[in-house]
Amino acid sequence: MHSQRTRIPSRPVGRVGYNELAPTKEIVRALTEDDIRTGFVNATDNEAQRIPLPGLHEVIWRDREFLGWRDARAAHRGYLAYWRGDEAVVIALRECEVPLARGVGGMCSLCHTPQPGYQVSLFTAARAGEAGRDGNTVGMYMCADLACSIIIRIVSPPSDVQPDPSLVVARRADGLQKRVESFIDSVLKNA
Ligand SMILES: [Zn+2]
Repeated sequence: MHSQRTRIPSRPVGRVGYNELAPTKEIVRALTEDDIRTGFVNATDNEAQRIPLPGLHEVIWRDREFLGWRDARAAHRGYLAYWRGDEAVVIALRECEVPLARGVGGMCSLCHTPQPGYQVSLFTAARAGEAGRDGNTVGMYMCADLACSIIIRIVSPPSDVQPDPSLVVARRADGLQKRVESFIDSVLKNA
């Protein structure tokens, strides 16, 4: 079903600004609404059909390791969609309603970006399959807006210390991708 993943050359011509940084991976293929709705591993089909999606046509896929978005209709829900090989895996998340204490720094466990605590939330994901139906969850601190791919691309201009910012982004992107895969593995474990 998802076997038509296309590999596009990873260096589009004419990019400007931070887009001049060389992408580290092949470009992430755009997710369609159907990919997302059929890709949920820890929501019922009925729920998956009703979840509000972000504006997919506005997403710059070449700069995404995964797509994360908050539910526009439910305050403490969010979603993470990722191409696992040729298969779209989508995970429903629930934000813990107790925020980090004011003034405390936080760090997203996916992108490892240190930031003010209010920008980081504890999310839990029901495990896939029977384990999830039995109430088993996986918890992780993540960027509250689930926009790790954007924050890791904020880099300082070239300097003597760091002459090539694209290397910084490449290293961050690599780490982010590995940690997203590991998180997904733990949600799918024993499913
Ligand atoms: Zn993050």
